[in-house]
Amino acid sequence: MSYLRPTDDPLIQKRHKKQKGDPQAHLVYSAENKIKPYHCFRSENATRAFIREVVHSRWWKAHFPHIQDVAMVVQDRDRGYADAMPGFKVGAVRLDWTYLSQDNALHELAHTIVEGGKPKIRPNATVHGKEFAGTYLALLRKFTTQEYYLCMRDCFETGGVEFLEPDVAEGLWRK
Ligand SMILES: [Zn+2]
Repeated sequence: MSYLRPTDDPLIQKRHKKQKGDPQAHLVYSAENKIKPYHCFRSENATRAFIREVVHSRWWKAHFPHIQDVAMVVQDRDRGYADAMPGFKVGAVRLDWTYLSQDNALHELAHTIVEGGKPKIRPNATVHGKEFAGTYLALLRKFTTQEYYLCMRDCFETGGVEFLEPDVAEGLWRK
């Protein structure tokens, strides 16, 4: 089974503009757009249950103790958005109805890890920088399949996305 989208899929053509202060964002989005979603959820509650399972796992607690819980809201407009409220050890992710899938939830959860903590653990990490990309790959490796993880990793490599090795990224967030 291939997780790659067919090359005539319109999403592949979609390019995102470069964002100021976040120079790698468009490369990350382009790489992700080449891959099919991993496990689309049928409901908001199912998505929330998955996020709870991830954030309350022993693995998460061992690696990302600065984020103790993550709330999720679904809304109509924004594609995906993550927020980690500094000082509260709680993060939040916001997902568009069309983005209720495991890979998108993990993408946003990676943002809560990178942005959270008071003070921020890696203050120089940019929003979609190599720390984010490596942490996202670590989450995919842990919570999807080896095949899906390798597919995303391959698209990062061919798409010029700079990332830390997941083993390295996993170790970044313990103070
Ligand atoms: Zn993002």
